[in-house]
Amino acid sequence: MDLSYSVDEQAFQAEVRAFLESSLPREISEKVANRRELSKSDMERWHAILNDKGWLAGTWPKEFGGQAWGPVQQHIFEEECCRANAPRLVPFGIKMLGPVLMKFGSPDQQAEYLPRILDGRDWWCQGYSEPGAGSDLASLKTKAERDGDDYMINGQKTWTTLGQHANRIFCLVRTKFDGKPQEGISFILVDLDTPGIEMRPIRLLEGGYEVNEVFFTNVRVPAARQVGEENMGWTIAKFLLGHERTNIAGVGFSIQAFEQIKDLSRTVRRGGKRLIDSPLFAARLAQVEAELEAMKLTNLRMLSLAEQGGRLGAEPSMLKIKGTVIRQALNDLARRALGPAAAPFPSEDLEGNLAIAPEGHAMNAASYFNNRKISIYGGSNEIQRNILAKGMLS
Ligand SMILES: Cc1cc2nc3c(=O)[nH]c(=O)nc-3n(C[C@H](O)[C@H](O)[C@H](O)COP(=O)(O)OP(=O)(O)OC[C@H]3O[C@@H](n4cnc5c(N)ncnc54)[C@H](O)[C@@H]3O)c2cc1C
Repeated sequence: MDLSYSVDEQAFQAEVRAFLESSLPREISEKVANRRELSKSDMERWHAILNDKGWLAGTWPKEFGGQAWGPVQQHIFEEECCRANAPRLVPFGIKMLGPVLMKFGSPDQQAEYLPRILDGRDWWCQGYSEPGAGSDLASLKTKAERDGDDYMINGQKTWTTLGQHANRIFCLVRTKFDGKPQEGISFILVDLDTPGIEMRPIRLLEGGYEVNEVFFTNVRVPAARQVGEENMGWTIAKFLLGHERTNIAGVGFSIQAFEQIKDLSRTVRRGGKRLIDSPLFAARLAQVEAELEAMKLTNLRMLSLAEQGGRLGAEPSMLKIKGTVIRQALNDLARRALGPAAAPFPSEDLEGNLAIAPEGHAMNAASYFNNRKISIYGGSNEIQRNILAKGMLS
């Protein structure tokens, strides 16, 4: 198996690099490099720049406005974006709903929604999880009952990422109340300004606001907004979660964070020595580097298999676990390297931390706490281990 990039792939890499150098606004890349919060308009601006270039939805087929990139091109694009400190794209429209509509949506739904995802008129959020249905998603209770040409929706979703910016939500709802739980779920598209919807913020551990609870009380939604057949939502949910997990390893992000920590450990001094010369810290750094190299190779191996049309089994689960464990280990290393400057601070006291932290590291405590989430969302690491055990040990 050849894991090096072909001549064409290297040319594509150079093209992406040049585009990012000329088109990524510096004010945005500086925020990303310094882990500062991006505003809605920052995210919309980058979305529009990529859409103008035609690279917003590179993996989409050409007839839907994509470039038909294969897995390797997409990987190169994402790796270069991380390297240049470009914002991570909000995945709900482009990486989740788009592929769902292309596979399961009616021609009318495709014509109505896909262009609006690309040009940014619609910002989608994901309404899967509920207070009693996370890992055990099939036990979800939000119900959609048929009433003439509409469904009437009642229930609650939670952990809805960036719902505060969204105008639409795709939901899993219960449309059949007997039989196997998986066989009574439907996938439905809902406008967030429909009467009866209330969104409330949830504050995360570091004080940031990126997730919400969404309450539905007698929310009337046209039945034509259902995707696929009634009660086949579980099939769609599994298809979509597969997409969510392959994007979650964040290899490029870890490479970037590792380099930042390595640089930091060359400038920070402890007991008169550079931190990188401390045997204990150097050993910790080396261990994460070895894990990262192994993950990079595993990722390339899987990309190579996917590029040749091979079937991935439980491998995405392995990448999800490794990717998130490594990113949390990097947060931990940064915390150790920063010492007192890594002390937790309320997010509104950023100025205080800017005064004491080395350049680019004022947000490390916030990032450390915020990244507790990555081993939970997209299917927790314990659930991924269950999938691995079932797929490989049985
Ligand atoms: C920051 C963040 C953003 C999110 N964004 C979204 C979003 O936009 N849309 C959306 O729908 N959801 C979202 N989620 C929800 C996410 O998918 C769930 O949190 C996740 O699936 C876990 O479900 P839960 O929180 O209900 O935990 P639970 O399922 O209650 O699990 C609690 C603990 O028990 C463990 N556990 C549960 N079952 C098993 C088992 N069978 N074997 C071993 N261990 C087990 C879990 O690993 C976990 O540690 C988000 C979550 C977070 C934290």
